[in-house]
Amino acid sequence: MKKVICILLSVLLLCPLLPVFASAADKPCDCGKPPIIRVCGLGAPIFDGNGNELKAADGSTIVQTVAKALPLLPGLLSGKLTAREAEKVVEIADGFFDSLGLDENGDAPAGQGVHFTYPTAVDHENGRLINFDYDWRLDPFDSAEKLHDFVEYIKTLTGHDRVCLIGESMGTIIMTTYLAEYGFDSVAGVIWYNGGYKGILTCSDSFSNQNTLGADTMGAYLKQVAASADSEALYNLMSALYDSGLLSQVFDGVLTGAYRLNDDGYLQDFLVRNIGRFPGLWSFVKYEDFDAAVDYAFPTPELRTMYAALIERITRYHDEVSAKADELMAQAETLTGKVGVVCGYGSLLPPVTHEEYLQSDSVISTREESNGATCAPVGGTLGEGYRQAVADGHNHVSPDNQIDASTCFFPDKTWFIKYGMHSFNSDGYSAELIRNVFFSDAPYTVFTDKAYPQFLILDKEKENVAPLTAANDESRDLQTGFGYRVLNVIFKLSASVLGFFVRITTAMRK
Ligand SMILES: [Zn+2]
Ligand SMILES: [Zn+2]
Repeated sequence: MKKVICILLSVLLLCPLLPVFASAADKPCDCGKPPIIRVCGLGAPIFDGNGNELKAADGSTIVQTVAKALPLLPGLLSGKLTAREAEKVVEIADGFFDSLGLDENGDAPAGQGVHFTYPTAVDHENGRLINFDYDWRLDPFDSAEKLHDFVEYIKTLTGHDRVCLIGESMGTIIMTTYLAEYGFDSVAGVIWYNGGYKGILTCSDSFSNQNTLGADTMGAYLKQVAASADSEALYNLMSALYDSGLLSQVFDGVLTGAYRLNDDGYLQDFLVRNIGRFPGLWSFVKYEDFDAAVDYAFPTPELRTMYAALIERITRYHDEVSAKADELMAQAETLTGKVGVVCGYGSLLPPVTHEEYLQSDSVISTREESNGATCAPVGGTLGEGYRQAVADGHNHVSPDNQIDASTCFFPDKTWFIKYGMHSFNSDGYSAELIRNVFFSDAPYTVFTDKAYPQFLILDKEKENVAPLTAANDESRDLQTGFGYRVLNVIFKLSASVLGFFVRITTAMRK
């Protein structure tokens, strides 16, 4: 009797898995359109075991942080924090990641994770994208294993023996790890969309201690943020703050303070107790920066021992995926014939990298996203009389003379969207371009379709793209007006007052 109950129980427990083993496998689909799985970017909400969402910082945390940080302002502005104040800064920063924190091995507390459920039906014949989400904090190998299970499930559900994969942002990392680990047997095509698979400089530079925080680019970046908000008042405010020099003056002080935190080891300490424990974020470190980053985060033999399991994990990603990204891309092209890379340009990165004015989609640099494009600095050109780096019989230089795609890994299969931000238009051009690449009979390139040449421009409503031409390529900067001139005068005065205040504080603290 006991045995029967055991068997019944096992069968009942297996029930949720049944669709995987049963159904469609014996009903192959001959629609000719393999299902498309979209491996989403970082951002799925993470929940604890009781179903409460875990957040790095909600409104009240931010208010509390600002309140706690106010007394530190004189020290920050003069760039001279005392040891106690420096500790306080780290303590405040710690608070931000409390609830999302991982253990020394890079594992999450039991019960935490994303709420991702398998769909029971998918509209794959219409090329509808099937989303896959994962816990972005964790080891990409763990997420790739879950992706593998999902791919197998979708194959069975749809009756196809292969799926198309499109990775978006961090999703390109999980997707590439999947390809390294499980190969191409189940894969009919691969697209890297706004991808972080060649490294994300803002993170890479922080982990390897290479940031140069530029006061000037910080101001230029905030101006860009204001411009993208499309509010004339905000743009007037930020432009006046920047052009008056006040912003640079404030940042100069704060950034000197940040440098001191760096020199004194506070940032390293923050790293190993917080985001430095997220194997997912370690996968953003560029291949070339990895050794320096490990040396910086774990400088002593004690730390190397304490974090041995984590170091082994992140090194595995470095050796088995990061080192082989190009090789895997080449295999994807040979084995599936359907590949593509999509990236944005025309925006500044957050100004925390050692390379300033890099072209980007505002989050990831275009050079990395495209795997090799030659890019002019934001606002500049490749120079008069510029000649394409690799002569392959096609023109690969953008009409605005800012991008040379001939140095890309796939020069004929990489698309660039000017003013394209780090976002994904699931119902419009993003999905359409993806379907074109995956569903066309012959290999789809930047020369196949007049609607999707190599260089595109995002329209102002951000809902569509058009081929980039000299005629539709206008600057997206807003115009400043009367409000700007008034504010500019006020901020110039404030800059003088602040300069005086900083000199006094500095003298008093000596
Ligand atoms: Zn089908
Ligand atoms: Zn070419």
